[in-house]
Amino acid sequence: MAEIRKRELDKLRDMRREYVKYLNLNPIQRGGILTPEARKAVEEWADGYSVCDFCDGVLESIKKPPIDEFIHETLPRFVEADEVRLTHGAREAKFMVMHAICEPGSTIVVDSNAHYSTHVAAERNKLHVVEVENNSYPEYRVNVEAYADRIDEVNKKTGKLPSLALITFPDGNYGNLPDAKRVADICSEYNVPLLVNAAYAIGRMPVSLRDLGADFIVGSGHKSMASSGPIGLLGVRKSWSDSVFRKSMEYRNKDVEMLGCGPRGLPLITLMASFPAVYERVQRWDMEVKNARFFIKRIEDINGIQQLGIKPTEHDLNFLETNVFYAISKKHRNGRFFLYRELKKRDIIGVKPGLTKNFKLSTYGFNKDELKRIIDAFKEIAMLK
Ligand SMILES: *Cc1c(COP(=O)(O)O)cnc(C)c1O
Repeated sequence: MAEIRKRELDKLRDMRREYVKYLNLNPIQRGGILTPEARKAVEEWADGYSVCDFCDGVLESIKKPPIDEFIHETLPRFVEADEVRLTHGAREAKFMVMHAICEPGSTIVVDSNAHYSTHVAAERNKLHVVEVENNSYPEYRVNVEAYADRIDEVNKKTGKLPSLALITFPDGNYGNLPDAKRVADICSEYNVPLLVNAAYAIGRMPVSLRDLGADFIVGSGHKSMASSGPIGLLGVRKSWSDSVFRKSMEYRNKDVEMLGCGPRGLPLITLMASFPAVYERVQRWDMEVKNARFFIKRIEDINGIQQLGIKPTEHDLNFLETNVFYAISKKHRNGRFFLYRELKKRDIIGVKPGLTKNFKLSTYGFNKDELKRIIDAFKEIAMLK
């Protein structure tokens, strides 16, 4: 072992997080804030393999803490899937499905608003990706009918149907909620399995694999289920469970695609401890959409700010085009960093330093007073010279 410098170690000895008190607009942060229940559970369960005291070799059979029931009863009801397993994130769930059911060299069809992790998961699986277009600025609405055209094209060009189709529900840029049911109808006509990427949906809004009529559904615990993560959720239709959740030939009780077992420790414990509150908040989704619309309406009162994506918004994540801030940044002494600094002065963070032309934000979980504070801040900043 080589010597490690004291100043390196000192940085690790001082791991405070300065931003806890700020209102954070960053969409990836809003749904992952721990509930008080989860924060309390952290104290007792933070040790490495803490959940494995009573494990007989299969994580999802552990009765104490109640992982068995959570995975086999609670979560399948929550997303209305036949079977659910936990993964290390939404991306790992997508990777796992592709790895289990798509031959290397085959082609998958995905929406053009897909998350980069969809493309990286496909790349790691050596899959070709064909995109279904959106109608571009300002709506970026995915043309769901075109799934049929892309599937036909792949079939013609390669002599085989796509090995998988994927729709992002909603996407992580505009918060657009495409008609995933229609995509599922098209895909089932062709007998192409469909994965719904609901990383920004499960844990925020009601989602049902059964109602959507798809084959797979994917969620993210640290993004939308008030878990510390990293943890994701994969729900499947029964017909896929044997291939995706297959057991090792040599180690008969170990899942191959999960390399033996799924997430344990705090990712799982915080997910479970937060779940009762998450179950309740999902039932208040209408209010979240109302709040998002209230916010967008007030923000669009400012000259030079416009929401892009489908209108009126149907989600807490929204993309703003903010020409007014861009114009100010041209003259302001802090240049393009002025917006970040002005927001921070008002205890608001989450807009990336340097962005002024456009950015995304989420209103998830803010109360009316907090929303008003944020609106007032934007209004004040828009009047700067
Ligand atoms: C955040 C996000 C992901 C990645 O989620 P992880 O759980 O961190 O892997 C995937 N897809 C979409 C649409 C996302 O917004």
